[in-house]
Amino acid sequence: MDIKEAYTTLEIPDTSSKEEAKKAFKKLAAKLHPDVNKEPDAEEKFKRVNEAQQIIENYDPNAPTNVQWGNVGGIDLSDIISSMGGFPGFGRQKKPVRQMHDIYIDQTISFKENILGSTKEISFECDLRCDPCNGAGSKAINNGCAKCGGKGTIITRQGFAVMHSTCPSCRGKVDAQSCLACSGNGYVSGKKSLSVNIPTGISPDKNVLKLGNVGHFTGDTMLGQSYTAVYLNVKIEQQDGLTLDGDDVITRVSIPLLDALQGTVKSVPTIDGYKDAIIPELTKNGDNVVLPNLGVRRRGNERVIVNVEYPTDTKALAEFLKPSQDNQGHQDREIK
Ligand SMILES: [Zn+2]
Ligand SMILES: [Zn+2]
Repeated sequence: MDIKEAYTTLEIPDTSSKEEAKKAFKKLAAKLHPDVNKEPDAEEKFKRVNEAQQIIENYDPNAPTNVQWGNVGGIDLSDIISSMGGFPGFGRQKKPVRQMHDIYIDQTISFKENILGSTKEISFECDLRCDPCNGAGSKAINNGCAKCGGKGTIITRQGFAVMHSTCPSCRGKVDAQSCLACSGNGYVSGKKSLSVNIPTGISPDKNVLKLGNVGHFTGDTMLGQSYTAVYLNVKIEQQDGLTLDGDDVITRVSIPLLDALQGTVKSVPTIDGYKDAIIPELTKNGDNVVLPNLGVRRRGNERVIVNVEYPTDTKALAEFLKPSQDNQGHQDREIK
C-alpha cells in the first residue's frame, strides 16, 4: 500500500493532516473491528485500515519509505479502545509490542555446501509466545452473567444466518484473569529450533542472512504476531586450492612451457575430490580448461586457469630449446 492508497483507504483527501487521519482511522476501526463487526470481510478491511493509518502516521515525505510493517511500532489497539470508552465485547487486551533486540547467530558451512546448498538446524534462546494465553498475558473468564453464560456475547439464529451480538444483560462486560503460565507477560523464556535452507554461492562480503519475524516474541499486532529478526552470519570454510567466482569454482595450475605446447593432464582439486583436467596442446598462459557441472548448483562449472611457466633466463631458455632425451622423457612422464 502506498501513501495515496492509504488516504483512499481511510476515505479522506490526501491533503489531510495526520491528526485528521487518526480521527478517520478511529471512526473506521470502531466500525470494522472484528469483535463488533461480524461481516466476513470486516477483518480484512480492518487490517487495511490499520495499515493505512500506520503508513500515514509514519510518512515522511523527505525520507525513502522502507519501513517494515508488522515488526516494530504499530498502533496498539487497546489505546484506541480505551480512548473511545471501550468496545462492548472487546475482551482481549493486547499487550503493547515490546522493543526487543534481534538475534545474531554464527553458522559455518563447508565450501562444498556453499556450492551445492545445505539445510542447517539452528537453535537459540529466546522469548517464546505463551501458548496458554496466546501471548495476551490474560484470559477471558466467565463474567458471571446468567443470560449469556458469562461470555459477553449471545448467538441468535435467523434461518441459516448465525448472529453474534453483545449480551444486553451484562453489556458484554469481560472479566480477564492474568495468565499463570507467563505471569501475565505474554511470553516465556525458552529455546527455538529452526531448519534453515542456506542459499548457494554466498560471497564473503554478502554473508548475512536475515530470517524475518522468527526471533523474540514481541507481541500481537493487528497484522499478526510479531517477532524480532534472526541474523545468520554464514562463514564459509576454505577448501584448498578452490575459490568462487559467481557460479564458477576456480582453481589454478602451473605447467612448464613444453607441457603447454604438447598438452598434458593435471590432477586438480574439485568439490568432488581430485579430477583430471585435460590441458590441450598449444595452451596459452591464462587459458581456462572447463570441468562441467562442478560449480554452483551443478549449473556452474569449475574453471582451471592455466599458468604457463616460461623460461625466465637465457640459460633456462637454452635448456628448453636443446633437443634432448630428457625432454622426451619428461613428456612421457606427464602425459602417460
Ligand atoms: Zn500466558
Ligand atoms: Zn451477559
